[in-house]
Amino acid sequence: MKKQFAIIGLGRFGGSICRELSKEGMEVLAIDVDEDKVNEFKDIVSHAVIADSTDEHVLKELGITNIDHVIVAIGDNLQSSILTTLILKELGIKKITVKAQNDYHAKVLSKIGADRVVHPERDMGKRIAHHLISSNVLDYLELSDEHSIVEVKAGTKMSGRTLIDLDIRAKYGCNVVAIKRDKDIIVSPMANEVIRSDDVLIVIGADRDISRFEKHLV
Ligand code: ADP
Repeated sequence: MKKQFAIIGLGRFGGSICRELSKEGMEVLAIDVDEDKVNEFKDIVSHAVIADSTDEHVLKELGITNIDHVIVAIGDNLQSSILTTLILKELGIKKITVKAQNDYHAKVLSKIGADRVVHPERDMGKRIAHHLISSNVLDYLELSDEHSIVEVKAGTKMSGRTLIDLDIRAKYGCNVVAIKRDKDIIVSPMANEVIRSDDVLIVIGADRDISRFEKHLV
């Protein structure tokens, strides 16, 4: 059976999720108060409806309780975002993901039981900043407030050297968990693995350690 999703709020973020899920063949119910937005998505998703998600009865009538995963992508209107999340929680929705505008909003959402709170603008900003510092930083993924994973191109500084020689764990407190080489991926590489300049290293660690690693080796 196809997994079912509902997206509330069809701005840039919610809209992009709708398009991608539909492209992947998922069943998507798209909801927005704005008629124009709903019209924009009616040929893309399985169902697109004009509705105010802060109205519990409307959500129930739409059959939202049968949906596996609801994504609240309401932008600036924090009150609507919080109220919607609260209603979804009370209706017993199994999985609720909510877009947060700022840290305070995120805290409230977690407190009222959102299963996942995402910060797309903040996260993308961080990724781009790391890429700006060094174009060899290909991606940056936050694991917690203090830990991240970075994907870096080995480049000239690491090329031809082994992991033991670079001593990344002892010197920078980070771990190389995998190396992407052409189409292969070497998971948990051995200490004597010789790095090539085109290798992509996946490195995990505390933010301050990753920062030192990036400064010295990337
Ligand atoms: P983004 O920053 O992702 O572009 P926007 O703020 O532009 O987000 O979009 C949020 C969307 O959420 C808008 O299309 C808006 O009409 C919709 N929206 C806001 N409040 C509600 C609500 N109570 N019910 C349904 N949709 C809502």
